[in-house]
Amino acid sequence: MQPEVTEPEANSPAKPLLEARGLTKIYGSGPAAVRALDGVDLELYPGEFVVLLGPSGSGKTTLLNQLGGLDVPTSGVIRFRGRDLATASDAERTRYRRESVGFVFQFYNLMPSLTARENVALITELAPDPMDPEEALRMVRLGERLDHFPSQLSGGEQQRVAIARAIAKRPSVLLCDEPTGALDVRTGVAVLEAIERVNRELGTLTVVITHNAVIADMADRVIHLMDGRIQHQRRNPVRIPPRELRW
Ligand code: ADP
Ligand code: MG
Repeated sequence: MQPEVTEPEANSPAKPLLEARGLTKIYGSGPAAVRALDGVDLELYPGEFVVLLGPSGSGKTTLLNQLGGLDVPTSGVIRFRGRDLATASDAERTRYRRESVGFVFQFYNLMPSLTARENVALITELAPDPMDPEEALRMVRLGERLDHFPSQLSGGEQQRVAIARAIAKRPSVLLCDEPTGALDVRTGVAVLEAIERVNRELGTLTVVITHNAVIADMADRVIHLMDGRIQHQRRNPVRIPPRELRW
């Protein structure tokens, strides 16, 4: 029997979802120029949980903004599913952000006059195949807080609403910039559990920026940034659940 014709890459490892090559970002010009990213090469794979560590000013947020299509590089390439976001049109980059990326920031930016459910629903109206807001809120363990307003929720609960809002469009990429930066340890753990559950159950490529090295133990892979470059990377043999992290 003739073997079936297969794609050449059929037996090769998974393709990266996001890929950076020589990614460079310079803010400003002349003597005031700041080289925030300096030739970053990186591959991020579907379903991975990646923690990005590095001191303040090392380029973490700049890299996350590039991965999320919020900004374009000065030079180099940043590909999503093989398509270069740097040379894509603004409309294409907007579509990438809207359909494929969930963002979580240190501050939750919820609408104070809307309930948890309504805050999530705002986003699902824009997405082609959204989750029910209630389902997204249950995933972050807020199924009992659907009709609470932000002012009736703790900081950690508000951040979990922000996570529900970010994932309700079923993004393939979840980007979190210091998601526990404003929280104490106990509420921070609940937020990390919500992020970890999304990654595990939805298979969302997840990148978490933190300057807390303890959090790195919950990742598949840890990337250290320094002066706009990847200083080193490591792969963890096992992922430690957030509540078992030693603070
Ligand atoms: P991190 O998130 O690791 O603290 P950033 O990516 O925010 O680092 O910043 C990297 C460098 O780029 C820093 O020196 C910072 O001052 C500079 N920078 C970041 N954003 C801007 C901007 N919009 N304009 C000018 N410089 C910036
Ligand atoms: Mg930052």
